[in-house]
Amino acid sequence: MPFDSAWLREFRRRLRAWYGQHARELPWRGTRDPYAVWLSEIMLQQTQVETVKPYFQRFLTALPTIRGLADADEQQVLRLWEGLGYYRRARQLHQAARRIVADHGGRFPCDPQAVQRLPGIGRYTAGAILSIAFDQRRPILEANTVRVFSRLLAYEGPTTTSAGQKLLWAAAEAVLPSRDVGRFNQALMELGSEVCRARGPACEVCPAAGLCHAHLRGLQNEIPRPKPRRQFEDVSEAAVLVRRRGRVLLIQWPEGRRWAGLWDFPRFAVHGNQTAEIRRALVDNVRRLTGVTISPGEHRKTLRHGVTRFRITLDCYDAEYVSHHGGGTENLAQKWVWPAALEHYPLSSTGRKLAGLV
Ligand code: SF4
Repeated sequence: MPFDSAWLREFRRRLRAWYGQHARELPWRGTRDPYAVWLSEIMLQQTQVETVKPYFQRFLTALPTIRGLADADEQQVLRLWEGLGYYRRARQLHQAARRIVADHGGRFPCDPQAVQRLPGIGRYTAGAILSIAFDQRRPILEANTVRVFSRLLAYEGPTTTSAGQKLLWAAAEAVLPSRDVGRFNQALMELGSEVCRARGPACEVCPAAGLCHAHLRGLQNEIPRPKPRRQFEDVSEAAVLVRRRGRVLLIQWPEGRRWAGLWDFPRFAVHGNQTAEIRRALVDNVRRLTGVTISPGEHRKTLRHGVTRFRITLDCYDAEYVSHHGGGTENLAQKWVWPAALEHYPLSSTGRKLAGLV
């Protein structure tokens, strides 16, 4: 056990008192409905609290129950998720809801093994749902609490190795009280997010000051060790608004692709910067993706955005339909859509911006 019993008693007492005074009011905090807790935990993965708030409320209003989510069309789920990114989360949430209806009568399971067998739910998410919704004594470890425990222990090693993970999970388990576990887990995450911040931890107002080994040794800014900086790769892509008698061509990204399930304008990587080369690439790639031959038109807009390690420059072009031969070598689903109907299709974020040009 990484902490002794006197330390644990004092830490729990102080953290509870601090959380009682400083807990933020968040839309998912007032509920112990496992569906709402689960939804909030999935949405909050890699996404800021402020971004999640309106999505969470809109999603729950549209699909208020697990059964409602299971019965929904995937397109509706993706449309509700649109703009939140990491769309795999939405598809797995939807698949898991269907599994819960099929295997558990529509009630969220409370058995940890059953929970972790659901798509998209790992040890952290299972621990969060089971502790918050069912008050089970389950630890959690996510970015905020990794930082808090590393500092409490003055653990200077890497946090992602199996030895580092073992130590941090043991700490996450050891600190838990025997009841009100969900609230305690939320207090730990809140401490990491609001006080024990990645840059500039506010030790002077921290309830754990005096108990925290990193602070006692003046190491709070060195722990945990920063991850190596990510190397970005610049990529040039093109998207084409292909028109045919007032309608515009959409493709649907298939399984295994970054935006699987979402619709988009034909889009692909391009090389070269001569006008003739680009026009050739537009014709060839639209034909490859869709089987449609186009006559390229004006350059409309340049968008810059980042996806994982790629910094993408996306140039958007107009084009007119000329002819159609087969479905293209990628065999993507495709549709000709009236501009007014675009709002019903889940699009990638850049796709939604380009829809404004149609
Ligand atoms: S004392 Fe400082 S480093 Fe330690 S837990 Fe609190 S904020 Fe983090």
